[in-house]
Amino acid sequence: MPLMQKFDVIIIGSGIGGLVTATQLAAKGAKVLVLERYLIPGGSAGYFERQGYRFDVGASMIFGLGHDGTTNLLTRALSAVNVSLETIPDPVQIHYHLPNGLNLKVYRAYEKFLDALTAYFPHESRGIRSFYDECWKVFNCLNSMDLLSLEEPRYLMRVFLQHPLACLGLAKYLPQNVGHLARRYIQDPQLLKFIDMECYCWSVVPANMTPMINAGMVFSDRHYGGVNYPKGGVGQIAQKLVEGLVAAGGKIQYRARVTEILIEDGIAVGVLLADNQIYRAKRIVSNATRWDTFEKLLVQQEMPLNEKKWQQRYEKSPSFLSLHMGVKAEVLPRGTECHHISLEDWEKMTAPGGTIFVSIPTLLDPDLAPPGYHIIHTFTPQWYADWRSANSRCAPQSLSPSEYEAKKKVAASSIINRLEKIFPGLNAGLDCLEVGTPRTHRRFLGRQDGTYGPIPRRKLHGLLGMPFNRTAIKGLYCVGDSTFPGQGLNAVAFSGFACAHRIAVDLGFS
Ligand SMILES: Cc1cc2nc3c(=O)[nH]c(=O)nc-3n(C[C@H](O)[C@H](O)[C@H](O)COP(=O)(O)OP(=O)(O)OC[C@H]3O[C@@H](n4cnc5c(N)ncnc54)[C@H](O)[C@@H]3O)c2cc1C
Repeated sequence: MPLMQKFDVIIIGSGIGGLVTATQLAAKGAKVLVLERYLIPGGSAGYFERQGYRFDVGASMIFGLGHDGTTNLLTRALSAVNVSLETIPDPVQIHYHLPNGLNLKVYRAYEKFLDALTAYFPHESRGIRSFYDECWKVFNCLNSMDLLSLEEPRYLMRVFLQHPLACLGLAKYLPQNVGHLARRYIQDPQLLKFIDMECYCWSVVPANMTPMINAGMVFSDRHYGGVNYPKGGVGQIAQKLVEGLVAAGGKIQYRARVTEILIEDGIAVGVLLADNQIYRAKRIVSNATRWDTFEKLLVQQEMPLNEKKWQQRYEKSPSFLSLHMGVKAEVLPRGTECHHISLEDWEKMTAPGGTIFVSIPTLLDPDLAPPGYHIIHTFTPQWYADWRSANSRCAPQSLSPSEYEAKKKVAASSIINRLEKIFPGLNAGLDCLEVGTPRTHRRFLGRQDGTYGPIPRRKLHGLLGMPFNRTAIKGLYCVGDSTFPGQGLNAVAFSGFACAHRIAVDLGFS
């Protein structure tokens, strides 16, 4: 058996959730080791380079990099280990291209956005303001307190004594979903569909399934801290966190795939790597999804009852078909914004291939592409099962390599043709094209079925059903998008702060 090394905390995975946990703990003096199966850190917030372009693999609309308040968790995580990032403010969060000519920009300036939306729905002007103003109430509660572990009673007591009204406000919104609130203020069916899309484009479920806490964050922070793009690409966030981690005495090892979490007497005590190396620690944190953690890394264990129940409440969202394109600059009409959402038919909003997401980060940071060229990253939801077998979920046989390549070609050209309406000449202006499927997401991001994360199977009570960081297995914690409060870089940073706080208290580091 190879030599064993002992750490305070081992973190499986260097997604933003894992790295925020690691840096927070290292900054408090814990001996931390991060094990990452891939070559670079970041997971879904990583990057890759081709033909002079630097592409973000996933996230590119970044919240949490603002300067004020307490909800700017990425800024705070970086500064906790004495690093920082240059950021570029985005004046428009999203340019929507929706059915029935609803062509609308969500401006960073709140009143300008309300004016733009009200111009389409003048008869709903009061409802629009009341709805979005109520979202601010959620945000203002969150933004008045330090966001740490809700599993730590002394912290909860302190926060409650310091901010009793904000805490009561959050307790009120915690079990609520957006749809309920939207219908209280708004009647117009088209406007309610727009609110559905406002939720769907980050929660991947409509408003009646989207928790109010998350919506309060997104719908207000875009006008407060704003959406800010990291100079050098989204991958810089993880790179800088690693720089800070190492400077604070933490360690990270790449090409280190954990195959098993080791349990002794019911307690998580270490990990086994694919190369048979074993590491031991007082606490183990999994930044892999809950499905990967409990179905693959704990094979010897029966799945804990609360995890079985969680799987009955939440399912895996679809993955994505992603097109990473390098295009000639003239493809983009003057005044093009960085982020777009396109949908032709409301009935297809949640269908695979229905909604198209577009990011053009070179409009904010031109250095990510060769001079005279831009990056267009576009993606649309797709199920893993539809890319595994020849005939969707009913056919057991796998797609052959040539069938897979042909399917990729057809799917990519369909997306490009649809985008021609927004970017005329896109096809002719293509310089570089990389197509990623749910299989690519699964392989490179290490996420079961390439899923974007958990979504409710049915309408639930807001965020009440999302688990915190401790698990039923002593010594084992989860962090990242399958813990409270869910997907998105700032959300998983929240999860990282909470996880590190709980562990620091458990180990006596705080
Ligand atoms: C296409 C796309 C677009 C998105 N757009 C946005 C956006 O605009 N804004 C936004 O805020 N969010 C966006 N998101 C969501 C956001 O990227 C994720 O919610 C977030 O990055 C997830 O972080 P995480 O820490 O939970 O885990 P991940 O990013 O999944 O990281 C987990 C890490 O663990 C590693 N790992 C897994 N298993 C093992 C193992 N056994 N051993 C060792 N290492 C392991 C993986 O390699 C990975 O590096 C997008 C996601 C996608 C896919």
